[in-house]
Amino acid sequence: MIIVALHKLDFNLMAKFQLTLLLTCMILISSCNRIVNTNEDWCDQELRSQYSELQEIETSSNWFKVYLVAEGVFAIAEPFNFQEVISYLIIGNDKALLFDTGMGISSIRLVVEELTSLPITVLNSHTHYDHIGSNYEFDNILAMNTEYTISRAENGMAHSLVSHEVSSEAICLERAQGFDTTAYHIKPFTITELISDGHIIDLGNRKLEVIASPGHTPDAVVLLDKEGGFMWTGDTFYEGPIWLFDPETDLMAYQTSLERLLEKSKGLTKVFTAHNTPVAEPIRITQLKTAFTEIINGEKAPKTAGDTAHVNDDAINFEFEHFAFSIRRDLLGEKGIIKR
Ligand SMILES: [Zn+2]
Repeated sequence: MIIVALHKLDFNLMAKFQLTLLLTCMILISSCNRIVNTNEDWCDQELRSQYSELQEIETSSNWFKVYLVAEGVFAIAEPFNFQEVISYLIIGNDKALLFDTGMGISSIRLVVEELTSLPITVLNSHTHYDHIGSNYEFDNILAMNTEYTISRAENGMAHSLVSHEVSSEAICLERAQGFDTTAYHIKPFTITELISDGHIIDLGNRKLEVIASPGHTPDAVVLLDKEGGFMWTGDTFYEGPIWLFDPETDLMAYQTSLERLLEKSKGLTKVFTAHNTPVAEPIRITQLKTAFTEIINGEKAPKTAGDTAHVNDDAINFEFEHFAFSIRRDLLGEKGIIKR
């Protein structure tokens, strides 16, 4: 079923797939902005407005859009596919970290090598397929020491599980020259080193703390550059509907992770997310925690089917000003309170 594969879906795609109503989306959160052009495709859609405020870095890629979002931090975005996934290249004195490798639709390695000549280490925010697609292009890969991660690395994902990602409704193929949609799959990759919570990635002048943040997946991590004041949140937070209904999702773990993130968020200047738009305000971490607490306390009314944007009948949306949660129905008890 599509739910398993599409862990992060935006209101945009829902419209494209005619699974929701335009009107509903327009009164919700800002991630609806591209939905207006429903007759156009991913080649014609305008980029989200935040991108016009960022410093774009020219590369030879027609697929990736690269932005310098902080000193030594490049956001490598894939806005021509509905996932709108964003990977990050973080530069230090001695080496660079590539946090996620995207869809695997176009070579991210070619882009990275245009941006730096430093040795590259890869770490994934989690191992959902839209973040590990080009892992196979790299030979130095850190991975969380979980069964989930190791299984993903060993198996990749077959074409049948990801073919919808590259359907004509989901992608601008003109942007992905030479890409064969019929052969698309997620390749396995080789883990160089297994790591765990608290691991420090030392790039020279820049040290990144790996914070285990299970919930969205068992292997989700958040990266913290404490000195720089930056946090990379992966899919634990982004400004869109946060998907919490895959089989591997654990709501109680997610709640605990949000508490930890809040503790770690003091002194942040920027938060970088993995979908839709790269840069978010640090206050969002507080808002995220508060919002999720409202849900688990039964204080937040869920939207019911028919008046909300949803992609399947198994998920219930809880909508807030800057983001939403899309939670699997069977994880919820009365009044939306999460079953313990
Ligand atoms: Zn994910």
